[in-house]
Amino acid sequence: MDNASDKKPGNPYYSRTDRTKLNVSDAEWKRVLPRDLYEVSRHKATERSFTGKYWDFTGKGTYYCAACGLKLFRSDAKFASECGWPSFFEQIDPTSVTFHEDNSYGMHRTEALCGRCGGHLGHLFNDGPEPTGKRYCMNSVALEFEPDAVKATTNVAEKDTITLGGGCFWCIEAIYKSLKGVEKVTSGYAGGHLAHPSYREVCSGETGHAEVVQIVYDPHQTSCEEILKVFFTVHDPTTLNRQGADVGTQYRSVIFFHNKQQREVALTLINALSKAKVFDNLIVTKVEPETKFYVAEDYHQEYYRLHKSEPYCRMVIQPKLEKFEKVFKDRIKH
Ligand SMILES: [Zn+2]
Repeated sequence: MDNASDKKPGNPYYSRTDRTKLNVSDAEWKRVLPRDLYEVSRHKATERSFTGKYWDFTGKGTYYCAACGLKLFRSDAKFASECGWPSFFEQIDPTSVTFHEDNSYGMHRTEALCGRCGGHLGHLFNDGPEPTGKRYCMNSVALEFEPDAVKATTNVAEKDTITLGGGCFWCIEAIYKSLKGVEKVTSGYAGGHLAHPSYREVCSGETGHAEVVQIVYDPHQTSCEEILKVFFTVHDPTTLNRQGADVGTQYRSVIFFHNKQQREVALTLINALSKAKVFDNLIVTKVEPETKFYVAEDYHQEYYRLHKSEPYCRMVIQPKLEKFEKVFKDRIKH
């Protein structure tokens, strides 16, 4: 593994990936380990309570053996203990920590050792919290903490894209252009087998493409769910290869999802609409992975805005837009 943290300068036995048990002489350990770690790990020294770097540390991450790099504990299993040493109620897996009965100093204790290098870590007591009732009382110096990777961004992407076919793209484009959170709407063709199809070719119904709009949206301001609710409000998802008077596979109802989450949202919404019998007939909308999207000719872009007075715009698009504006009145851009 080509990982910087997998190596330790001066300690050739250290590895976060190799779990092979080590058999290294005391003299060799003395040579490769820092003094304080050597004393604890190889000679069972105990650091003074309330002095180690981890006794009251609460970072999220993983604790490794400082001597050999074996993964020992997760921060989830760490608890605030009064004892002044870092305390865990559970080891990360059954082989990470091993035990040895320790009768030194006139006490009977259970010594906890690293499962790989056999180095002393601390002791195990039976006064820990549930669910195990155990307390792994460790020396900070024998541990090495690695924080969980901080995600560069939150789970929500800055921008998302979805491609929808709901009949004539002039209609759908006009509607999405006025939805809050939508940043860009492009009319085009998707789902066919011909490269760079023209409008004429798509209209022949022989290229397999659907008229679609590609929508770029800000998931912080709108959502895939809202976009699809709009979709099911402004087109008829129950007429196969047809929207009103427009007939042909290029007018099919289709959702081209760009990620798994969009697919989930689409299927869940279709299921809910079906169960609630929102439509009289069966929903025939297809949910398919995105295919190559071809931008339509310039004169199709912003068609409604530029041709408002044309009969098609007045009779077909405007009623859909009005329905959308009524249902989603709080969500319209002004
Ligand atoms: Zn170790």
